Amino acid sequence: MTVYLVGAGPGDPGLMTVRALELIAAAEVIVYDRLIPAGALLGARHDAELIYAGKEGGGPSVGQGEIERVLTEHGGAGQEVVRLKGGDPFVFGRGGEEAEALRAAGIPYEVVPGVTAGVAAPAYAGIPVTHRDGASAVAFLTGHEDPAKSESALDWGTLARFPGTLVVYMGVRQLGAITGRLLKGGRSPQEAAALVQRGTLPGQRAVVATLETIAASARDQAFKAPAIAVFGPVAALAERLEWWAPPPLAAVRVAITRARAQASGLAGRLRALGAEVAETPAIRIVPLAGPAPELGRYDLICLTSPNGVDALFDRLHAAGLDARALAGARVAAIGPGTARALATNGIAADIVPERFVAEGLVEALAGVPVQRALVARAAEARDVLSDALRERGAEVDVVALYETVAEPLGEAALQAVARADYVTFTSSSTVRFFLEAGAGERLGEQTRLVSIGPVTSDTLRQQGLEPHVEAARHDIDGLVAALLEDAVRTQR
Ligand code: SAH
Repeated sequence: MTVYLVGAGPGDPGLMTVRALELIAAAEVIVYDRLIPAGALLGARHDAELIYAGKEGGGPSVGQGEIERVLTEHGGAGQEVVRLKGGDPFVFGRGGEEAEALRAAGIPYEVVPGVTAGVAAPAYAGIPVTHRDGASAVAFLTGHEDPAKSESALDWGTLARFPGTLVVYMGVRQLGAITGRLLKGGRSPQEAAALVQRGTLPGQRAVVATLETIAASARDQAFKAPAIAVFGPVAALAERLEWWAPPPLAAVRVAITRARAQASGLAGRLRALGAEVAETPAIRIVPLAGPAPELGRYDLICLTSPNGVDALFDRLHAAGLDARALAGARVAAIGPGTARALATNGIAADIVPERFVAEGLVEALAGVPVQRALVARAAEARDVLSDALRERGAEVDVVALYETVAEPLGEAALQAVARADYVTFTSSSTVRFFLEAGAGERLGEQTRLVSIGPVTSDTLRQQGLEPHVEAARHDIDGLVAALLEDAVRTQR
């Protein structure tokens, strides 16, 4: 029963700490802010309660008192609670107040520092906040309050004389007033100044000017929150030390139709390339109950999806068995994803075809002697593999380990589909259930359809939809590569 006050970093998912990811994966309750990295909650438990506590730039927000009440209530009930905040929880994050409330309520807590925006956003713009030559101190300030009001908590006159870099959070709206105060306090109008918007995120942009001109530049270029302002000679280094480039899929919107439980690998890869990913699962995988197959009877065991591998091992484990049950047989995997799923269960696949479709596996098995084979697969799969093996005179048993069912698409998902630049289809069932859910009518004119391979493409065509992109390699890596190539070519 601990409440963890956890920093999620400035936005780039790669800047989350190992400890943050561990705690998210274990939490029963996660109370999260708006400015947390995309996908930060993907590793959460399926049964975790996710509570949004953010505010929309200046708009209505969940009150601080309410947040503290939620934390003490769940923490007091003995649950493992993660309070996830952008950047660092103790830097302009009100983490201090939350810790006080928890201490007052006698609830144990831990603090997990995060990479704070005031250091990270400048760093991604090529600005070191300290430097041996002339920036031996750095001050972090909030620009949130109105510096023109008489009772300012900040003494801008003193801050103007601060001998080092000034880093201002929450200062975009007041930038003109802030720079005015600093100039009035005697800071040089020629001093370098920078503003970094959405630092570390795919849409990052920066402007470098002087203390005198930065507010006008920011206004002309329509800079908005969240942004960090930097005042001091180090800001000028941005021009020389700039290193960050927008990722190739920056601002490209992709909707993923595969089952939520399977989507994270694909979503993660697309996000790493800068895409805005919406999970719009059209299907769900449901394992079918049944006994563990008697694997000792077969000299060949074929697995045609990672789901099949998981379902097979679930049945083996339920029967008190493990990987040794496959010891006597050759094991064939339809592609590298299935082979990886086998590997996590301690089995190195003997056969993986070059083309990751059933026909490819049939070819790869051509020279392999087979007497009795087991094909473990989805209930609704094609019979290509079992038919081909029977034709060769083998005895073939087929066991259906799971089925694919429709996942209803809510209005939010349909809206994401309507906005998407790309919709990805990773199997025929994603196509069928996507259209059954009425998502076909919502596809925008600009939307390009991406298919993982020829079988899925055929299903699309049967439904009157022409895929714009078909992966040459029929797995997730191949699909991502094909989408990326198309986005670069069509300059999305
Ligand atoms: N606890 C957070 C700060 C919260 S205050 C931290 O340690 O980073 C919110 C302010 O942080 C925003 O108004 C903005 O000034 C800054 N900020 C947060 N994320 C940012 C980002 N990705 N780029 C630039 N500034 C950011």
